[in-house]
Amino acid sequence: MLEEDMEVAIKVVVVGNGAVGKSSMIQRYCKGIFTKDYKKTIGVDFLERQLLVNDEDVRLMLWDTAGQEEFDAITKAYYRGAQACVLVFSTTDRESFEAIGSWWEKVEIEVGDIPTVLVQNKIDLLDDTHGRMDHEEAEGLAKKLKLRFYRTSVKEDLNVNEVFKYLADKYLQRL
Ligand code: GDP
Repeated sequence: MLEEDMEVAIKVVVVGNGAVGKSSMIQRYCKGIFTKDYKKTIGVDFLERQLLVNDEDVRLMLWDTAGQEEFDAITKAYYRGAQACVLVFSTTDRESFEAIGSWWEKVEIEVGDIPTVLVQNKIDLLDDTHGRMDHEEAEGLAKKLKLRFYRTSVKEDLNVNEVFKYLADKYLQRL
């Protein structure tokens, strides 16, 4: 059981191909902002936000990958001690969806079985003709991997809070 008044801090890694919206999601959730050309802040490993889940104070530390994801050069330090994970792909980038399986495996290898969600971001761009992802396929993958599935628009602030609330909740259930 948790001791009273003890704050729970959870390291969350946000993982997926480049340009799917990981940094934007972290910025949105922690700072409440969305910018089209957000430049990653050098030297900042993570941003954090506090929330209350079932009367429990929870601090989420959201770790960004600093743009190294395409080079497979993310250091062990990034994954070390991760307690929850967001797997992100983009509505407009089929390749990013196809890469989810290998991201999921990577997380499993580095940190084992931790609370994880599958997120389809940029659903505000569903009407774009190129590379459109139909959600049945994504739901199928979520089922196969036994993951909760969310569709978000970081741009329009749709479902972003729900993703992190779910993860915090799921994490607390395991304590
Ligand atoms: P990262 O490389 O995965 O961290 O992706 P970024 O956060 O840098 O986002 C890549 C681009 O996608 C940026 O131009 C963002 O503004 C844009 N973006 C992120 N989320 C959304 C979204 O939900 N909708 C739209 N239309 N654009 C988004």
